[in-house]
Amino acid sequence: MSAKKNESGAERRHFFSRRSAVAQNAVENTAKEASAAQEKKAEEKSRRRKNGDPLKKAAENVRKQAEALKMNVRANEKKAENGQKKEKSQKKDGSQKNENVQKKENSQKKENARRPAGTAPAAETGNQPAEAAKKSGPAKTSRRRKGQSAETPAASAPAAETVQEQPKKRQSSKRAGGKNVTPLKIIPLGGLGEIGKNMTVVEYEDDILIIDCGLAFPDDDMPGIDLVIPDFSYVVRNRDKVRGIVITHGHEDHIGSLSYLLKELNVPVYSARLTIGLIEGKLKEAGNLREAKLNVVKAGDKIRLGKITVEFIAVNHSIPDSCGLAIFTPVGTVVHTGDFKIDFTPVDGQMIDLARFGELGRQGVLALLSDSTNAERPGLTPSESMVGRTFDMLMEKAGDRRIIVASFSSNIHRVQQLITVAERHGRHVVVSGRSMENVTAKALELGYLKAREGTIINVDDMRRYPDEEIVIATTGSQGEPMSALTRMARGDHRKITVTSHDFIIISALPIPGNEKLVGSVINDLMHLGADVIYERSAGIHVSGHGCQEEIKTIMGLTKPRFFIPVHGEHKHLVKNSELAVEMGIPRENVYVGENGDVIELTPQSLRSVTGVPVGAVLVDGSGVGDVGSIVLRDRRMLADEGLVVAVASLDARTGAVLAGPDIISRGFVYVRESEELITEAQNLCRAALENAVKGSQRDWTNLKQVIRDQLGSYIFQKTKRRPVILPVIQEIRIDR
Ligand SMILES: [Zn+2]
Ligand SMILES: [Zn+2]
Repeated sequence: MSAKKNESGAERRHFFSRRSAVAQNAVENTAKEASAAQEKKAEEKSRRRKNGDPLKKAAENVRKQAEALKMNVRANEKKAENGQKKEKSQKKDGSQKNENVQKKENSQKKENARRPAGTAPAAETGNQPAEAAKKSGPAKTSRRRKGQSAETPAASAPAAETVQEQPKKRQSSKRAGGKNVTPLKIIPLGGLGEIGKNMTVVEYEDDILIIDCGLAFPDDDMPGIDLVIPDFSYVVRNRDKVRGIVITHGHEDHIGSLSYLLKELNVPVYSARLTIGLIEGKLKEAGNLREAKLNVVKAGDKIRLGKITVEFIAVNHSIPDSCGLAIFTPVGTVVHTGDFKIDFTPVDGQMIDLARFGELGRQGVLALLSDSTNAERPGLTPSESMVGRTFDMLMEKAGDRRIIVASFSSNIHRVQQLITVAERHGRHVVVSGRSMENVTAKALELGYLKAREGTIINVDDMRRYPDEEIVIATTGSQGEPMSALTRMARGDHRKITVTSHDFIIISALPIPGNEKLVGSVINDLMHLGADVIYERSAGIHVSGHGCQEEIKTIMGLTKPRFFIPVHGEHKHLVKNSELAVEMGIPRENVYVGENGDVIELTPQSLRSVTGVPVGAVLVDGSGVGDVGSIVLRDRRMLADEGLVVAVASLDARTGAVLAGPDIISRGFVYVRESEELITEAQNLCRAALENAVKGSQRDWTNLKQVIRDQLGSYIFQKTKRRPVILPVIQEIRIDR
């Protein structure tokens, strides 16, 4: 155990010397910069390899290590001169100190700054043997120097500042709290204990990074609510700290509430090409595209946001351009998988970058945040390309019938396979449904979908071809009431009429909660005589999320010290945490959290401190957050129990009851069959009202309450129901 610990300590030292170079590379977007960076990386790699072995042996022999490092110092000294010269020219104010002294002091300072920030084992952090400290210090510095000399001065300058600030901060915090490091905070604002509205805050000192900004669809107990977005109040309150938003991929549960957040907080957004394309569409609809600061990155790119640097890593998922993230911070590296699966034969040939996850694991990963959606499912998720083979087989089977395929519009790989197979079978593809049309158009424009000239035809041109030459790609795989497939099933689609000459494939599984809707669509389609293929076993759908073995693979590659399951209901998170324990991560290093937790990480510890406000903000039409719990309660009661209105007229002078109360109800009982009940209720109300007025009660609020109480308890006693009761009192002035 201790040998292992030391070895990983040595690894981590490598990582941190490398990290400084990483941090200085703000954005490597232009090809020129990228190739320069690559050269540098290769150079650094070979250097690391050279220096790596003696360092690894440190576990067994500290003396040998020191010797080796001494040699490194000498070997690198000349190279380091280069860096010194550069540094000298940067220091315009000029230092009076002797160059060598300065160098030593700097390196010592840097060493101090690095050490507490690094994930070195506790024993080494505070009381490292002076001998080793002195020897390893300069060696590392000279290596760093060399790295620096390759940097552009502009990029290296801020990093130098950071380094010099840190020792001061460290000392002051040491005096104040006895802690060495400012902890890194991870604050999930959505996506934990639920499927949907994923959003996570990463905060280090004065810098905040937001990961994803998704929405959720309302539950059955939220009548009239269109969608649910996370509570942004924490990031809005800390608006000065927010450096940017990184988006892992283009699904609604990751981008859906971005337009709402950007209205309050217009910070730069970074994501891959297709994701940005989909975001553009959403922002255009919401009317805030023009002021948005959207930045396209690609897998492998790094962006620097204050003291936090984020690297995008390619993963497989049910939408192209999905990314995981490596988040480099002074406390350590946090890896966030995003939504992912491992697909060895992906449709677009872009396999998840397992090698990069492994590299990060070698360098030392402080914490892994991992997708939990399929954590309950053993084994591996099949490759997306399997669905293509099923399509092929089914198109054979369909014969001369027309084919209709419903799937998620965002699953561009699926649509691509449909197009490819259709072309092979001499069929044209009609795209139907608003979101399917939008996404397909965007994907074709950006080159994520490829189709031969003439394959995709307009729905109006469909009648020019026989059924056997047509495939309709459509939405509605979840039985959504307004979707194209549902309208076809109801027989009210304007352009597509389903008959017994249709062969329908539902290429998706119902999301839990949608089974009934999907079921009734299937029933309706079958009533129309169509053949409907929808079984789980038919191979017409595969998940976009990795199962247990895939989740474990990423854990094994990244070897995190701490594990935090994300993206899933509580049961999924718990299952995922069990996988981590099974993989040998100590139970106390695994944290199953909730939205709003403030998870504080240091190199040695994870703790959850008091939370920030979270919850669901309900969006009803154009109103955001104006539907509170009372409105929602009323809507539920209205939906479940109906409405009873009691209208009474009082004399404005005397307070005498002039008319009523009349009782009107909606959705409560059928009045004609309940005349007795209504009459009794009327009499009761009148008596109570007269009583109250006699007792000189003239306050309307009180009078209304009297009616509500009387009517409420009577109705409950008779019917065991609690409808919404709405008393209406009108005062009438009678001129005499
Ligand atoms: Zn997703
Ligand atoms: Zn998701």
